[in-house]
Amino acid sequence: MDFRLSEEHAGIRNLMREFAEKEVRPRIKEFEEKGKFPKELVEKLGEMGFMGIFVPEQYGGMGSDILAYAIAEEELARVWASLALIMSANNSLSGAPILEWGNEDQKKKYLASLAQGKALGCYALTEPDAGSDVTRIKTRAVRNDNGWVINGTKQFITNVAKAKVCVLIARTSDHPHHGLSAFIVETSTPGFSVPKIEKKMGLHCSPTSPIVLTDCQVSHANMLGQEGDGWKVAMQTLNGGRINIAAQAVGIAQGAFEEAVNYARNRQMFGKRLIDLQDCQHKLAKMEAQIEASRWLTWYAAWQKDQGHDVKLAAARAKWFATEMVQKITYDALQIHGGMGYMDETPVERMFRDARALTLYEGASEVQLEVLSRKFLK
Ligand SMILES: Cc1cc2nc3c(=O)[nH]c(=O)nc-3n(C[C@H](O)[C@H](O)[C@H](O)COP(=O)(O)OP(=O)(O)OC[C@H]3O[C@@H](n4cnc5c(N)ncnc54)[C@H](O)[C@@H]3O)c2cc1C
Repeated sequence: MDFRLSEEHAGIRNLMREFAEKEVRPRIKEFEEKGKFPKELVEKLGEMGFMGIFVPEQYGGMGSDILAYAIAEEELARVWASLALIMSANNSLSGAPILEWGNEDQKKKYLASLAQGKALGCYALTEPDAGSDVTRIKTRAVRNDNGWVINGTKQFITNVAKAKVCVLIARTSDHPHHGLSAFIVETSTPGFSVPKIEKKMGLHCSPTSPIVLTDCQVSHANMLGQEGDGWKVAMQTLNGGRINIAAQAVGIAQGAFEEAVNYARNRQMFGKRLIDLQDCQHKLAKMEAQIEASRWLTWYAAWQKDQGHDVKLAAARAKWFATEMVQKITYDALQIHGGMGYMDETPVERMFRDARALTLYEGASEVQLEVLSRKFLK
């Protein structure tokens, strides 16, 4: 067993850290104040290879692995979660299913532009009446001479307002699981519309929107996998994606922890520094241990995926643990800042709000616990 990062992984960590510190951190305020999509930063991530970290070089990606992706996601989320979510929806939810389920033509057509930040990707599973329970999906694809005609409504879709490519799950027959199929839908297709961008509690620069599909015609060539593979595509995509959401949680927590340490070192009270008070020290020590535990669960799950193992359990464990952990860490980091932590000039205020979404998307915490507890029932 070797717990050291390889030269390649350490290099990717340094590269992303430098980018996040030098090019992202100074611009967060400018974007957050207007809730503006950080287009130039997304393009820069694409140029650096981060929009297709694990996509093989032959398809225009960086050609690295899932561990590298988790490390990069953590580093970016440590500084700005909105941008980290834009990157992860593109990689995990669009690039990954096309890489894992796409045929050669689909990979050649879509992967390079997704990986290089020239076309943003998104993933449409959730519907107004189907969130945790995917079998309730109503969006329907009906076969015709030209391929499939899709009608329905999707909800809470990250990136779609700026995306060109959408991996979409729709119903092609009534069977709860086998009746689902996956499609690659270009967002410029007539009948594909994005009526609004939602106003959210946090992650203000990561756009979240519904999709309305009205007689949206896609060709046979744009079915991902075979008819009836939609359930498997959806679950495999989420299992991989959860590792990255765990990494996102570790990154936000690490950022909040560092802000708290900094503040406690400088804040004076009762004739000493806040950090000299034992309660504060213990709070910080517990935070550090929880973050480290989450990081190792995440890296272990990433390593398992790189080995080609089934990551259902490892991903659910890491996702549940890390996304619950970051709630407490951002709460405590804000508490250490006192009233200042509630003011929007401190980064922990934003981190506290941003972190809240992580126990919800890519499977709520309760869903992760369902996955984990199934093991004991057999
Ligand atoms: C910011 C953001 C971005 C998102 N991006 C995307 C995206 O890009 N693509 C996409 O398809 N979706 C996306 N989603 C949707 C997200 O995946 C869903 O919100 C999530 O799956 C939960 O579904 P729901 O909101 O319908 O809640 P519901 O499924 O209705 O859940 C309601 C409550 O029931 C709980 N619950 C669920 N199962 C159980 C159980 N077995 N036992 C007990 N309680 C349970 C849940 O935890 C929750 O507390 C996004 C959501 C957010 C907030």
